[in-house]
Amino acid sequence: MEIKKNDRFVVKIQDMSEDGAGIGKMDGYIWFIKDTVIGDVVEAGAMKMKKSYGFARLIRVVEPSASRVEPRCPVARQCGGCQLQAMSYEEQLRFKENRVYHNLLRIGKFENLVRVGEKNGTEEAGESGGPEAGEFHTVPGAEDRAVFLPIMGMENPWRYRNKAQFPFGTDRDGKIITGFYAGRTHTIIPQEDCLLGVEENREILRVIKDFMNRYQISSYDEERHSGLVRHVLIRKGFRTGELMVCLVINGKKVPESGKLTAELLKIPGMTGISFNINQEKTNVIMGRETIHLYGPGYITDYIGSIRYQISPQSFYQVNPVQTEKLYGTALEYAGLTGGETVWDLYCGIGTISLFLAQKAKKVFGVEIVPQAIDDARRNAELNGMENVEFFVGKAEEVLPREYEKSQIPADVIVVDPPRKGCDRQCLDTIIRMAPERVVYVSCDPGTLARDLRYLCDRGYELKKVRCCDMFGWGVHVESIVLLSKLHTK
Ligand code: SAH
Repeated sequence: MEIKKNDRFVVKIQDMSEDGAGIGKMDGYIWFIKDTVIGDVVEAGAMKMKKSYGFARLIRVVEPSASRVEPRCPVARQCGGCQLQAMSYEEQLRFKENRVYHNLLRIGKFENLVRVGEKNGTEEAGESGGPEAGEFHTVPGAEDRAVFLPIMGMENPWRYRNKAQFPFGTDRDGKIITGFYAGRTHTIIPQEDCLLGVEENREILRVIKDFMNRYQISSYDEERHSGLVRHVLIRKGFRTGELMVCLVINGKKVPESGKLTAELLKIPGMTGISFNINQEKTNVIMGRETIHLYGPGYITDYIGSIRYQISPQSFYQVNPVQTEKLYGTALEYAGLTGGETVWDLYCGIGTISLFLAQKAKKVFGVEIVPQAIDDARRNAELNGMENVEFFVGKAEEVLPREYEKSQIPADVIVVDPPRKGCDRQCLDTIIRMAPERVVYVSCDPGTLARDLRYLCDRGYELKKVRCCDMFGWGVHVESIVLLSKLHTK
C-alpha cells in the first residue's frame, strides 16, 4: 500500500527508538511515531517519508498498550522534556534495560552475557521473574559468563531533580510568565510545576513573578535582545535542604532587588541568592559573571559521605539519590582494598574520584574542563582528601603522557565518557597500562558496546553489567560495567 503525506493509517507499535518515539512496521517500512507506547495500536498521520522509514504523528490510540498510563503532567506532550510519560515506570525500566542488553549483543557481540534475576544477583537466573522472562538463559556452569544484573530503578520516580531552569517571558496582556520551552522551540508554555522538580520551585517562581509584576521588571525578549530577566536557576541540596536561586539577567543589576531577596528569604532553606550576568545574544543560559546578593555563593550537599560545594555554575549530578547508587556500584566494581592506584577518566568535578579515594591508595582524575577541576580540587580539600590528584586535559592526551613520563601504574581505571564514548587512543593506553579491572560508566549504550568490544578483543573480559535509571520519564539510561584483565591459564 502506497502511503502519501497526510494519509492516515493504523499500525501497531512494536519497539521504541533511542529518542523515545514508538516504532511501527508496515510491509517492511518503518514508522516513527511520537507519543506512543510499545504495544499500542494507533491511528497515525504520515508527515515525512524517506525511502525505508518515515515519521507520522499520533492521531488516536485505537487499542492502548497494557503499559500505557495517563501522563501526570498536563503539558507532557508539548514540553518534550519527558519522552516516556505515557509509559508505566515499570515498563520504562524494562525498555531501558533491554536497550542496553540488545546493544551489547548486537554491537558488542557478547554472547556470554546472561541476565540474572532480582533476588540474588550473582547466582539466581532464569525463572526468578524479572524483566523479559522469556529472554532469560539458564546460567551455564562455565566461568566465562558475564552477568547482566537487574536495573536499579527509583523508589519514587517523581520530584527527583535537584536542579531546574525556567525561562521568563511576557504574555499578550503584559503579564510575566514562566514555564517551559515547547519541544525544540523557544515559545514559553506557562507551567510552573514540573513534577520532576522540587516542590519549592513553585513558590520561588511565584515570588519572582510577583516581584517582577509589582516593580515592572521586564522579561528578556530573545528576538529583540531587550528586557532584563532571562532565566532562573534553582538548586536544592537534597540532604541538607539548602536552596539556591540564581536569576540570569541581561544587565548588571535589578531595581529593588533588596525586596526580592527579602521575599525569597522567607522560603525555608534559602541559602544563596545571586544574579548571573548574561548580556550576550545567545541561547546559552548562563553568562560568566555571578554576583552574590545573599549567602556564601554556594550550597552544600552530600553524596554518600562526601560533601560537595555547588555554585550556580558548577556541574552537579541532577539526581542525587540514584547517583549514590551509581557511584556505589562503580566503587563496588572497582574492588578496592586500600592499596590500589586508580585513574578516574572524564572525572568532571571529581565526584567519582572522591568516592574512590575513600578506599584507594591514590586516585588520579582527568577532565577537559578547567573549572570542573577547580571544583574537584576544592571538594577534595573540603573533605580532607590528600590522596587525589587532578589533571586538566583530554583523557586521550593526559593518560599516555603521564604514563610515558612517570610510568604511573594503574590497578583500576574508571571511565565515564560523554555520549561519543572513549577515544581510541585512550583505550589503547588503557590496554598498555593493563589495569586488573576497568570500570566503564556510560550514558550511551551504543558507544559503550563498541568500546567494550574493543577492550575485550585486546585482553579484557566482560564480567558485570548493571543499568541505573537516573532520568525517569526520559529516555536516557546509565550503565556500569566491570571488565577484568584476562590471565592466560
Ligand atoms: N564522572 C563525572 C562526569 C562525567 S560526564 C561525574 O560523574 O560527575 C563526562 C565528562 O567528560 C564531562 O565532564 C566532560 O567535560 C568530560 N570530557 C569530555 N571529553 C573529554 C576528554 N576528551 N577528556 C577528558 N574529559 C572529557
